[in-house]
Amino acid sequence: MGQISILEAAVADQIAAGEVVERPASVCKELVENSLDAGARTISVDLEEGGVMRLCVTDDGSGMDQEDAVLCFSRHATSKLRRAEDLHAIRSFGFRGEALAAIASVAKVSLTTRRRDDATAQQVTVEGARVTGVREAGAPVGTRVDVRELFFNVPARRKFLKTLRTEAGHVEDALLAVGLCRPDVGVQLRTDGKLVLDLPAVPDAALALDSPARVDRVVRCLGEHLRSSLYPVRGQTDLLTLSGYVVAPIETRRDLQGVHLSVNGRPVTDRQLVQAVRAAFRTLLEVGRQPIVALDVALDPALVDVNVHPRKAEVRFADPRRVSGHLISLLSEFLHTTPWLNRGTHNQTVYRLRGNAGLTVASDEQTSDAPIVGEDPAEAHRARVKAALAAFGQAADRRDVPPSAVAQTALSSSSSPSSTMALPTLESQPGRGGASSFSALRVVGQVGGTYLILEGPDGMVVIDQHAAHERVVFERLRDRRRGQGQPSQALLLPITIELTARERAALDDVTVKAELARAGLDLDGYAHTTAIVRALPPGLDGRKAHAIVRDVLAELSDHGGGSGARTLEERDDAICARLACHAAVRAGDVMAPAQVRALLQDLDTIDLGAHCPHGRPVVRTLDYTELAAWFDRD
Ligand code: ADP
Ligand code: MG
Repeated sequence: MGQISILEAAVADQIAAGEVVERPASVCKELVENSLDAGARTISVDLEEGGVMRLCVTDDGSGMDQEDAVLCFSRHATSKLRRAEDLHAIRSFGFRGEALAAIASVAKVSLTTRRRDDATAQQVTVEGARVTGVREAGAPVGTRVDVRELFFNVPARRKFLKTLRTEAGHVEDALLAVGLCRPDVGVQLRTDGKLVLDLPAVPDAALALDSPARVDRVVRCLGEHLRSSLYPVRGQTDLLTLSGYVVAPIETRRDLQGVHLSVNGRPVTDRQLVQAVRAAFRTLLEVGRQPIVALDVALDPALVDVNVHPRKAEVRFADPRRVSGHLISLLSEFLHTTPWLNRGTHNQTVYRLRGNAGLTVASDEQTSDAPIVGEDPAEAHRARVKAALAAFGQAADRRDVPPSAVAQTALSSSSSPSSTMALPTLESQPGRGGASSFSALRVVGQVGGTYLILEGPDGMVVIDQHAAHERVVFERLRDRRRGQGQPSQALLLPITIELTARERAALDDVTVKAELARAGLDLDGYAHTTAIVRALPPGLDGRKAHAIVRDVLAELSDHGGGSGARTLEERDDAICARLACHAAVRAGDVMAPAQVRALLQDLDTIDLGAHCPHGRPVVRTLDYTELAAWFDRD
């Protein structure tokens, strides 16, 4: 007798019913989880025609004997639990005992498997749930499950599949999720014979969060462009251990696809956990932006039920509120250390307002790696407050620079060229006659690296530098689109960017291409995951081409490309808003006095409807009456 036993009816009943097989990616997920459960160290996946024609998963795990190789296709066959009580402490990935049965009922499957001690492999073929052959075969130790012609006997299901590229993209996403939470396992994906994903296993000795091999692996999964903004995080409470990586909130996404979560090493898309992560990031992100993280929550398996969802994507915690609460506080604690302000290659000092914790100052003198949750850098930072304030005072003294010299002055007014950024102003369009005249006001300074303080006739004027600049750029982009259309500027050299298979697939859609062209983006899909960017709207930095393209694609896919409730105009505006966000000076960027002047002049030329394209206020005034009231003056 092998290891598999048929589940007792009682256990079977405890298992929520549901469809396991939805598309090639769900087949892949089940097979890969089985491979992980079998202790595989290498898993490779082969796709033909998006996985619909063929999806084959090969592992080097434990393998099965002949009896189990046949039995594993029966419904509720599982080697992973034998008694109902086991349901409360599942450590393995899959235990429902229905994945292989479900897959075999809608495809032609052949399974080849060999245990370490067996001389030969066993091969079992199944078609539409009927075993059609069992024979010995030659094969290495491990298991290969070859799934052909998915939904061959259920044409209705086939209709729901998207393009083959999109399906391949979902498979890739599923493998990337495993890639992130199981760095100890090597993962490969070939589509139509071509190697498109290659994640070598990270050796056990190099699994620490800050080990270069581990970081490389994460970067391969999340994208090379995020390498410099990746921070390891680890924290622990009496309930759970949080570990993984957080991307500095400078890099964000329009959608939630950057939120990669796992529970006890199993990828999940659990809503409560996602909400907890968003809650922790809330004050750090622009409205409508989502964080990018890869985090694992480890807790006592007895406190989590992974059985509730047919595809095991969601989990049920014994005490969901407590889990969310602990996750939020660990993550918030880490985010409040703002490690991204501490690391860098240039000599920049920035201020940041931190909730009601007051003004904290972070400086680049500290080049150490990201702090781990638990350390409190506030103390160290406090010591640098004075120096930082003095530095800003000096910069403010040099504020009377003619605005014509913006770019050059922005660079030369600082000892370090990279510490200030030139504002991409887009040539201004005179004659709009804005109502306000900010450039006439006295600039008092910049606080929190984010807010400009001006002295107005009625009181203190506070401008959110990012929101304001974003508004300026947005107006210009929109004017240009409405005017000449095609507001684009050819890049000196075309830029090649890497996209996910899904993003790349979107470029084959003519409506998407047309929208991109209207926005001033000229790019072509190339090969499986590559695109070549030839032109961007003026004012946008070619070095950000990758982030810009991904963002715009996410904006389009969120709203179903060419369809959806929004008008064409609204969609185009939404894209302009995204572009403006990329072109605008960021919160946290130190602005040279000349840059401040240039921004104020630009603000004068637009009709400032008070809000940035994301609906946040741009300018606020604290009037003298209010100020007087603060100090009990009449
Ligand atoms: P479950 O994973 O829920 O147990 P499955 O239908 O996915 O149910 O798999 C049934 C059984 O087949 C597993 O419990 C396991 O014993 C065996 N099995 C499936 N895939 C593999 C594999 N790649 N290597 C070894 N055993 C496997
Ligand atoms: Mg399984």
